[in-house]
Amino acid sequence: MTQPKLIDTHAHVNFHDFKNDQDEVIKRALDEGVWMINVGAQRETSERAVKIAKKYEQGIFAAIGLHPSHLEDQQVDYQESGEEIKYKSRSEEFDHDLYLKLAKDEKVVAIGECGLDFHFRSENQAREKSKVQSFKVKQKEIFLKHIQLANEVRKPLIIHCRDAHDALIDMLQVTSFALQDRGVMHFFSGTLEQAKKYIDLGFYISFSGVITFPPLRRASANEYAEIVRQIPLEKILVETDCPYVAPVPRRGQKNEPSYVKYVAQKVAEIKGLSFDKVAGQTTKNARELFGI
Ligand SMILES: [Zn+2]
Repeated sequence: MTQPKLIDTHAHVNFHDFKNDQDEVIKRALDEGVWMINVGAQRETSERAVKIAKKYEQGIFAAIGLHPSHLEDQQVDYQESGEEIKYKSRSEEFDHDLYLKLAKDEKVVAIGECGLDFHFRSENQAREKSKVQSFKVKQKEIFLKHIQLANEVRKPLIIHCRDAHDALIDMLQVTSFALQDRGVMHFFSGTLEQAKKYIDLGFYISFSGVITFPPLRRASANEYAEIVRQIPLEKILVETDCPYVAPVPRRGQKNEPSYVKYVAQKVAEIKGLSFDKVAGQTTKNARELFGI
């Protein structure tokens, strides 16, 4: 069995964006020794993630879950570190039996992405305060159902969290005694203090291509550098979140799993370590967490 050089712990080759080049993109990654976990965000993309994983004997895995943005119809449209991200989200109810069935598949290595997203950009959402409040409550309910599912199948969580870290940490502090296999904070966007709290709760922190971006108005890349520097390599995972946020030097292109090397390179540069050391340790971390 070949050993992976790197693992892209959060990819979306299961998304529509890769409809025409899915096989090539996967081949390019595998040829470079990059394994990947394709992450579902609702029923359809979760099913497709499993289907893709089953096509490959080795190196391609799936995660299944219902992303908090898919709990109501909305036009998602925002700037992520200077990059415009736009998609239409269709609402879906969480069908426990359906996700349980998917979760039991041996190629499924995690439950997610699930979590909280309190980033309300659209004006009409912000205007209706009570609606926002009930949407938050609903997100918390559905996240709890993912925790239950993770416990049921004994698999870790892949957590999405945007503008809701304090609420999420509160929830994890209350529920973590019941959460057996922990998980990862994907596309980490919180503060150093919050990162430390997640680590104390037993979670890994995953970084995306955003850490390679040049400092912007909010100096976000500098803040990321400080977080990467301060937290132990034994707690770090790397990801692309492709097709979004392609890292430097691929900015402006469609992101893909083979570019995860640029994220690992940046972690190495920030921490003053060799690329091989970072690739080796983050791969070991991912294999331990996801049992692959
Ligand atoms: Zn994602």
